[in-house]
Amino acid sequence: MAKLYFRYGPMNSGKSRQLISVFYNYKERGMQTYIMKPSIDTKGDDKIVPRNSETMMVDHLITKEDNLFELIKNQNKKISCILIDEAQFLEEHHVDELTDVVDYLNIPVICYGLLKDFTSHLFVGSKRLVETANSIEEIKTVCSCGNKATEVIRYVNGIATDKGKQIVIDGANEEITYDSLCRFCKKKILKKGD
Ligand SMILES: [Zn+2]
Repeated sequence: MAKLYFRYGPMNSGKSRQLISVFYNYKERGMQTYIMKPSIDTKGDDKIVPRNSETMMVDHLITKEDNLFELIKNQNKKISCILIDEAQFLEEHHVDELTDVVDYLNIPVICYGLLKDFTSHLFVGSKRLVETANSIEEIKTVCSCGNKATEVIRYVNGIATDKGKQIVIDGANEEITYDSLCRFCKKKILKKGD
């Protein structure tokens, strides 16, 4: 039986690099993967962009209206595995459709994404994945203090903040960046910014 996998980790934990390495594992065995990501992510448009590594084109950019079960069912090639980057931006119905891909089409689906946003709340897609995935794995990375990094912090023009919309498409006047860190370091940085 195929499974739905959710592999989550904070920013820069190597999620995109893992996705690309799974792609090559299948390719070396002569098997085809199908790579998707939600179109809301503007980091690389139709590419997977890991840090300090090669970029890779996706097969499909997911829009809000897409039915992922119909999309995969209507592919006329044999797909051995489906890989999804930035899975936190999936809609709830997308994740439910992916469970149908796993259960009815017997194709494994591996989703990579963030678990929580910069206010420590679950993303919609990640929440649904936690609720429905067969396998949930944490991709670990460390905070600069040595603790496990479990949180994401947002900087607007270099200033740490815990306010603002969950998803911000880079504005003209604001430079928005993120970092991964532990909960305690995040509290200390946010306090200092007040
Ligand atoms: Zn720390």
